[in-house]
Amino acid sequence: MCLDPESVEHLITGKTKAVIYVGVGGNAQNYNEIRSLCAKRNLTFILDAAHMSGTTWADSGEHVGLDSDCAVFSYQAVKNCPSSDSGMICFPSAELDKQARHLSWLGIDKSTYDRYSEGSYKWRYDVPEVGYKYNGNSIAASMCLVSLRYLQSDNDHRRMLASVYSETLKDKTDIEVISHSNLINSSRHLFQIAINDRDGLMEMLWKEGIYCGVHYVANHQYPIYEKYKADVEKASWYSSRIMSLPMHLGVTEADAVYIAEKILKK
Ligand SMILES: *Cc1c(COP(=O)(O)O)cnc(C)c1O
Repeated sequence: MCLDPESVEHLITGKTKAVIYVGVGGNAQNYNEIRSLCAKRNLTFILDAAHMSGTTWADSGEHVGLDSDCAVFSYQAVKNCPSSDSGMICFPSAELDKQARHLSWLGIDKSTYDRYSEGSYKWRYDVPEVGYKYNGNSIAASMCLVSLRYLQSDNDHRRMLASVYSETLKDKTDIEVISHSNLINSSRHLFQIAINDRDGLMEMLWKEGIYCGVHYVANHQYPIYEKYKADVEKASWYSSRIMSLPMHLGVTEADAVYIAEKILKK
């Protein structure tokens, strides 16, 4: 469900500047292949790590994304390291880091905190460029610091649910269980399956009080992208078949067995 290196290679043109790799559900399938492809073709490699808080390499234990040109995490309320909202952009380049800080704070060259920390309050600042109001705030950050303490155990809980679902559904021939790369310990933000009658199964589960989600309808199927050419067969195929099973922290092991057995009967 992550980018396919062959397909990406085929879609690169002289106008391509960057590749955005989405670690769907915490997965990092084909990550190294896409990373090398970008290096080879001199393209910026941007990691959408919105689902990847706590996804680490199995061998080194390092967080996935340290070798990206830019990694973007989400701490939105429904993500796996939640605050009320906000996120984090990481660059290996100190220069880009500085620029992103300016741009996210209206283009101002010093944060209010910086201005206080210089000894006395320095009221004067410069606005070298016009920026945005994209800054996080201390209230969200304080929630996130608490979330961080639970990140590992929350991810472990969802890994347990994922293994119950995978184990129970693995022999059901009309369902494809979307596996995660065996090179990583995935944050397991999502557990996804693909089934031809996705809408039918969602409806059936809904009637049982089991609420599933869809991550995601392929972007090119939204009217806003209608005028762009989209040579993305696999995304189209999965778009009508993919669904996500309940993975929130209130779901117990017994609940996961119960849900998987309902699906088995379908
Ligand atoms: C939530 C999400 C985002 C956006 O994150 P925000 O913090 O809401 O800006 C981006 N990409 C993916 C895959 C997401 O799930």
